[in-house]
Amino acid sequence: MNICKTPAEISQLCDNWHKQNLTIGLVPTMGYLHDGHLSLMDIAKSKTDKVVVSIFVNPTQFGPNEDLDKYPRDFERDERLCRERGVDAVFYPTPADMYAPDFSTWVTETSLSQALCGLSRPIHFRGVCTVCLKLFNLARADVAVFGKKDAQQALIIKRMVRDLNVPIDIIMAPLIREPDGLARSSRNKYLSEDEHNRALSISRGIFAAEKAWKNGEKSAAKLTAILRKSIEDAGGQVDYVELVSQSAIRPIETVDQPALLACAAFFGKTRLIDNVFLE
Ligand code: AMP
Repeated sequence: MNICKTPAEISQLCDNWHKQNLTIGLVPTMGYLHDGHLSLMDIAKSKTDKVVVSIFVNPTQFGPNEDLDKYPRDFERDERLCRERGVDAVFYPTPADMYAPDFSTWVTETSLSQALCGLSRPIHFRGVCTVCLKLFNLARADVAVFGKKDAQQALIIKRMVRDLNVPIDIIMAPLIREPDGLARSSRNKYLSEDEHNRALSISRGIFAAEKAWKNGEKSAAKLTAILRKSIEDAGGQVDYVELVSQSAIRPIETVDQPALLACAAFFGKTRLIDNVFLE
């Protein structure tokens, strides 16, 4: 497995692969890998000849009072997991390698990012789009795999790729959960045992709302109320619980088109997100 620390190294490696007519799949991550990330690698492997995993805690997608400094990191473990999974290259740059001191060009998606996480994290998706476009350009990957865990992110990246004619296929991979139902996330490490147990109210609420929808409930007010109540009864602090259209990420009153039930909630200081696609 190749470990590329600089943009020049990954670019050169991918150039060589392209010259051999090999296809490249990219899995962008912030590291501290878990089964969710590994499932994305498996999908990339099934689609392309070479798989590149980027491990980069991207500072530009964190707000001033967020968890950039304490975001969990363990490169040695990540490297081992990638190797065991048959990844071909890990791209592990430093912030200074990715952002020149006078960096001044940003990619801003202006519609889908104006809801859900975009409201409580105003610069988040600008940072995500900018770093992803940089990664796409460096690897010139044929395919990139994103998880439905971050549904809004995946939909925004798809929109960016369409709007800017980026020659890459974006694949959206299923959300992977822990055996108890909690959506897998590097941030789950922050939770105390009590917070973890109470945070199970999120997935329980998601499952209950999904079941109600499958049984014919179409009212957004009723479906969101099921999820909100589950979280609040467990002492979680809801950031948002929304039912939105997949096409525009705008609130809808009735599930009469492909929809997304999404939430963000705090348990202690940890902000967790979860969702289900209703389609
Ligand atoms: P992150 O390292 O949290 O930025 O995530 C990197 C990629 O892994 C993103 O495309 C996420 O959507 C995806 N991912 C994170 N957690 C999960 C999960 N539980 N299931 C599926 N994909 C995930």
